[in-house]
Amino acid sequence: MALTFDLPANPSLPVLGDAARFPVRRIFCVGRNYEAHAREMGGTADPDAPFFFIKSAWDLCQSGSKIAFPLETANCHYEMELVVAIGAPAFRVPADRALDAVYGYACGLDMTRRDLQRAGGDAGKPWDFGKDFEDAAVVGTITPAAGFVLADQRIVLEQNGVVKQDATIDTMIRGVPGLIEWLSRFYHLQPGDLLFTGTPAGVGPIAPGDRLVGTIGGLSPVELAIGETQ
Ligand code: MN
Repeated sequence: MALTFDLPANPSLPVLGDAARFPVRRIFCVGRNYEAHAREMGGTADPDAPFFFIKSAWDLCQSGSKIAFPLETANCHYEMELVVAIGAPAFRVPADRALDAVYGYACGLDMTRRDLQRAGGDAGKPWDFGKDFEDAAVVGTITPAAGFVLADQRIVLEQNGVVKQDATIDTMIRGVPGLIEWLSRFYHLQPGDLLFTGTPAGVGPIAPGDRLVGTIGGLSPVELAIGETQ
Protein backbone atom coordinates (compact mmCIF):
# COMPACT_ATOMS: atom_id res chain seq x y z
CA MET A 1 0.00 0.00 0.00
CA ALA A 2 1.41 3.35 -0.98
CA LEU A 3 1.43 6.08 1.64
CA THR A 4 1.69 9.77 0.83
CA PHE A 5 4.58 9.95 3.32
CA ASP A 6 6.23 7.75 5.93
CA LEU A 7 5.71 8.28 9.66
CA PRO A 8 8.66 7.94 12.03
CA ALA A 9 9.26 4.43 13.38
CA ASN A 10 6.59 3.19 15.78
CA PRO A 11 7.25 4.37 19.34
CA SER A 12 8.95 1.58 21.31
CA LEU A 13 10.78 0.79 24.54
CA PRO A 14 13.90 -1.24 25.36
CA VAL A 15 13.47 -4.60 27.10
CA LEU A 16 15.90 -5.92 29.69
CA GLY A 17 17.93 -8.80 28.28
CA ASP A 18 16.39 -8.58 24.80
CA ALA A 19 17.79 -6.89 21.69
CA ALA A 20 14.20 -6.48 20.39
CA ARG A 21 12.19 -3.48 21.52
CA PHE A 22 8.58 -3.40 22.80
CA PRO A 23 6.33 -1.49 20.37
CA VAL A 24 3.92 0.89 22.08
CA ARG A 25 0.28 1.07 20.98
CA ARG A 26 -1.84 3.02 23.48
CA ILE A 27 -1.03 4.62 26.83
CA PHE A 28 -3.71 4.41 29.53
CA CYS A 29 -3.25 6.18 32.87
CA VAL A 30 -5.27 5.91 36.05
CA GLY A 31 -5.94 8.96 38.22
CA ARG A 32 -5.89 9.16 42.03
CA ASN A 33 -4.79 5.62 42.77
CA TYR A 34 -2.93 6.43 46.01
CA GLU A 35 -4.96 7.85 48.89
CA ALA A 36 -2.41 10.46 50.01
CA HIS A 37 -2.01 11.77 46.45
CA ALA A 38 -5.78 12.05 46.01
CA ARG A 39 -5.82 14.20 49.17
CA GLU A 40 -2.93 16.42 48.06
CA MET A 41 -4.88 17.06 44.83
CA GLY A 42 -7.76 18.27 46.97
CA GLY A 43 -9.98 15.35 46.05
CA THR A 44 -10.91 11.89 47.15
CA ALA A 45 -10.49 8.50 45.54
CA ASP A 46 -13.42 6.15 44.97
CA PRO A 47 -12.04 2.60 45.17
CA ASP A 48 -15.12 1.30 43.37
CA ALA A 49 -14.86 3.67 40.40
CA PRO A 50 -11.34 4.30 39.10
CA PHE A 51 -11.03 6.84 36.29
CA PHE A 52 -8.59 6.89 33.42
CA PHE A 53 -7.14 9.23 30.83
CA ILE A 54 -5.08 8.53 27.74
CA LYS A 55 -1.83 9.80 26.30
CA SER A 56 -0.80 9.36 22.68
CA ALA A 57 1.91 6.78 22.00
CA TRP A 58 3.74 9.63 20.25
CA ASP A 59 4.13 11.32 23.66
CA LEU A 60 6.58 8.54 24.59
CA CYS A 61 9.96 9.82 25.80
CA GLN A 62 12.94 7.52 26.34
CA SER A 63 14.43 7.41 29.82
CA GLY A 64 17.72 9.30 29.86
CA SER A 65 16.47 12.03 27.55
CA LYS A 66 16.89 15.75 28.01
CA ILE A 67 13.70 17.55 27.03
CA ALA A 68 12.88 21.20 26.55
CA PHE A 69 10.71 22.61 29.34
CA PRO A 70 7.13 21.76 28.24
CA LEU A 71 5.23 24.34 26.21
CA GLU A 72 2.68 26.86 27.51
CA THR A 73 2.87 25.86 31.16
CA ALA A 74 4.09 27.63 34.29
CA ASN A 75 3.51 24.61 36.54
CA CYS A 76 4.66 21.30 35.06
CA HIS A 77 4.80 18.40 37.55
CA TYR A 78 6.51 15.01 37.74
CA GLU A 79 4.38 12.00 38.74
CA MET A 80 6.42 8.85 39.40
CA GLU A 81 4.51 5.66 38.50
CA LEU A 82 4.73 1.92 37.97
CA VAL A 83 4.06 1.20 34.29
CA VAL A 84 2.54 -2.10 33.15
CA ALA A 85 3.22 -3.32 29.61
CA ILE A 86 0.45 -5.48 28.14
CA GLY A 87 1.67 -8.45 26.09
CA ALA A 88 -1.48 -10.45 25.34
CA PRO A 89 -5.09 -9.57 24.43
CA ALA A 90 -7.29 -8.91 27.47
CA PHE A 91 -11.03 -8.38 27.26
CA ARG A 92 -13.34 -8.64 30.27
CA VAL A 93 -10.70 -10.51 32.23
CA PRO A 94 -11.29 -11.24 35.93
CA ALA A 95 -8.66 -9.95 38.32
CA ASP A 96 -7.40 -13.43 39.12
CA ARG A 97 -6.38 -13.96 35.48
CA ALA A 98 -5.40 -10.38 34.64
CA LEU A 99 -1.68 -10.79 35.22
CA ASP A 100 -1.59 -13.38 32.40
CA ALA A 101 -1.81 -10.41 30.02
CA VAL A 102 1.21 -8.62 31.49
CA TYR A 103 4.39 -8.57 29.41
CA GLY A 104 6.47 -6.67 31.93
CA TYR A 105 6.93 -3.66 34.18
CA ALA A 106 8.82 -0.36 34.01
CA CYS A 107 9.35 2.91 35.85
CA GLY A 108 7.55 5.87 34.31
CA LEU A 109 6.95 9.60 34.72
CA ASP A 110 3.44 10.88 33.98
CA MET A 111 4.49 14.45 33.19
CA THR A 112 1.60 16.83 33.83
CA ARG A 113 0.98 20.46 32.91
CA ARG A 114 -0.85 20.96 36.22
CA ASP A 115 -2.05 24.46 35.40
CA LEU A 116 -3.62 23.32 32.13
CA GLN A 117 -5.04 20.19 33.79
CA ARG A 118 -6.72 22.31 36.45
CA ALA A 119 -7.91 24.90 33.98
CA GLY A 120 -9.58 22.07 32.11
CA GLY A 121 -10.87 19.89 34.94
CA ASP A 122 -12.05 22.69 37.18
CA ALA A 123 -14.11 24.09 34.30
CA GLY A 124 -15.54 20.72 33.35
CA LYS A 125 -13.34 20.61 30.25
CA PRO A 126 -11.07 17.77 29.09
CA TRP A 127 -7.70 17.05 30.69
CA ASP A 128 -5.97 16.45 27.37
CA PHE A 129 -3.78 19.56 27.23
CA GLY A 130 -2.68 18.90 30.80
CA LYS A 131 -1.75 15.27 30.26
CA ASP A 132 -1.31 14.51 26.56
CA PHE A 133 1.62 16.51 25.16
CA GLU A 134 5.03 15.91 23.63
CA ASP A 135 7.45 13.93 25.85
CA ALA A 136 4.77 13.59 28.55
CA ALA A 137 5.15 9.80 28.94
CA VAL A 138 8.71 9.04 30.08
CA VAL A 139 9.37 5.32 30.47
CA GLY A 140 12.44 3.24 31.35
CA THR A 141 13.57 -0.21 30.24
CA ILE A 142 10.88 -2.88 30.58
CA THR A 143 11.64 -5.81 32.90
CA PRO A 144 9.80 -8.93 31.68
CA ALA A 145 7.11 -10.11 34.12
CA ALA A 146 9.05 -13.24 35.06
CA GLY A 147 11.67 -10.98 36.64
CA PHE A 148 9.38 -8.89 38.85
CA VAL A 149 6.77 -10.04 41.36
CA LEU A 150 4.27 -7.40 42.49
CA ALA A 151 4.73 -6.89 46.23
CA ASP A 152 5.58 -3.93 48.50
CA GLN A 153 8.52 -2.50 46.54
CA ARG A 154 9.47 1.12 47.25
CA ILE A 155 8.58 3.71 44.62
CA VAL A 156 10.78 6.81 44.89
CA LEU A 157 11.26 10.01 42.92
CA GLU A 158 14.36 12.15 43.40
CA GLN A 159 14.57 15.69 42.03
CA ASN A 160 18.17 16.96 41.94
CA GLY A 161 19.10 14.29 44.48
CA VAL A 162 16.33 15.19 46.93
CA VAL A 163 13.65 12.58 47.66
CA LYS A 164 10.23 14.00 46.78
CA GLN A 165 8.05 10.89 46.51
CA ASP A 166 8.55 7.79 48.65
CA ALA A 167 5.91 5.11 49.06
CA THR A 168 5.36 1.42 48.37
CA ILE A 169 3.40 0.06 45.43
CA ASP A 170 1.18 -2.12 47.65
CA THR A 171 -0.49 1.09 48.85
CA MET A 172 -2.22 1.56 45.50
CA ILE A 173 -5.96 1.84 46.03
CA ARG A 174 -6.62 -0.55 43.15
CA GLY A 175 -3.79 -2.94 42.34
CA VAL A 176 -2.59 -3.99 38.92
CA PRO A 177 -4.99 -6.99 38.54
CA GLY A 178 -7.98 -4.83 39.46
CA LEU A 179 -6.90 -2.05 37.09
CA ILE A 180 -6.60 -4.47 34.17
CA GLU A 181 -9.94 -6.06 35.06
CA TRP A 182 -11.66 -2.65 35.07
CA LEU A 183 -9.98 -1.28 31.94
CA SER A 184 -10.65 -4.49 29.97
CA ARG A 185 -14.39 -3.88 30.34
CA PHE A 186 -14.09 -0.70 28.30
CA TYR A 187 -11.31 -1.60 25.84
CA HIS A 188 -10.01 -4.68 24.11
CA LEU A 189 -6.52 -4.42 25.59
CA GLN A 190 -3.86 -5.48 23.12
CA PRO A 191 -0.14 -6.22 23.12
CA GLY A 192 1.72 -2.93 23.08
CA ASP A 193 -0.70 -1.10 25.38
CA LEU A 194 0.84 0.56 28.45
CA LEU A 195 -0.86 1.29 31.75
CA PHE A 196 0.42 3.99 34.13
CA THR A 197 -0.84 2.90 37.56
CA GLY A 198 -0.99 6.22 39.40
CA THR A 199 1.39 8.30 41.50
CA PRO A 200 1.95 8.46 45.25
CA ALA A 201 1.96 11.71 47.23
CA GLY A 202 4.71 14.29 46.78
CA VAL A 203 4.18 15.49 43.22
CA GLY A 204 5.70 18.87 42.46
CA PRO A 205 6.91 21.34 39.84
CA ILE A 206 9.95 20.99 37.60
CA ALA A 207 12.29 23.75 36.40
CA PRO A 208 14.95 24.07 33.69
CA GLY A 209 18.15 22.39 34.84
CA ASP A 210 16.36 19.72 36.90
CA ARG A 211 17.37 16.08 36.90
CA LEU A 212 14.66 13.55 37.81
CA VAL A 213 15.40 9.95 38.79
CA GLY A 214 12.56 7.56 39.57
CA THR A 215 13.09 4.09 41.00
CA ILE A 216 11.03 1.05 41.96
CA GLY A 217 12.84 -1.80 43.72
CA GLY A 218 13.86 -4.42 41.17
CA LEU A 219 13.21 -2.34 38.03
CA SER A 220 15.43 -0.19 35.83
CA PRO A 221 15.16 3.49 36.84
CA VAL A 222 13.57 6.25 34.77
CA GLU A 223 15.67 9.38 34.29
CA LEU A 224 14.88 12.75 32.78
CA ALA A 225 16.75 16.04 32.41
CA ILE A 226 14.87 19.31 31.91
CA GLY A 227 16.30 21.84 29.50
CA GLU A 228 15.44 25.46 28.80
CA THR A 229 12.09 26.74 27.55
CA GLN A 230 11.87 26.81 23.74
MN1 MN B 1 -0.49 10.12 37.04
